[in-house]
Amino acid sequence: MTPYILLIGLGVHAIFEGLALGLSNEIEEVELYSIAILLHKGAAGMSLAISLAKAFPDNRRFVLIMLTLFAVFTPLGVFLGMMVPSDNDMAELVCASLAAGTFLYIACSEVIIEEFADSTHRVAKFLFFILGMAMISGLQFLDHGHGEHADEHDEIHLDHDEHTD
Ligand SMILES: [Zn+2]
Repeated sequence: MTPYILLIGLGVHAIFEGLALGLSNEIEEVELYSIAILLHKGAAGMSLAISLAKAFPDNRRFVLIMLTLFAVFTPLGVFLGMMVPSDNDMAELVCASLAAGTFLYIACSEVIIEEFADSTHRVAKFLFFILGMAMISGLQFLDHGHGEHADEHDEIHLDHDEHTD
């Protein structure tokens, strides 16, 4: 069942992350979503491909069709997101949250459990698991610049209030 659960779970995830990207209307948001997607899309595609190849070793054609289908989901989501009239921050947040939730669910309930149940190369797997978490966590430092910018904006706003008092 694992390849089907992965295909459905990662497929739903891929559509929602595409929608979140397509609904973004600020260049900084588009950059962050794009970097986040580029960082994990290869790993997600590889997990799915390995799972499918293991389950259907003699049916290369079926594996290729399923992978092509998976590859279409995110661009489709981006396209649909761009069709929606702009300034829809709530829809973007909902899609980003659903993308994050489905990915965490698939990772925790399928990929991590299955990989660590097999006791070979456990230390290497754990090190790459930590490396992957560190890479994605590092993205928040890219966003930090925008955070500082917002603080500056608040300070200017406060100065302005004091001035008017
Ligand atoms: Zn993704």
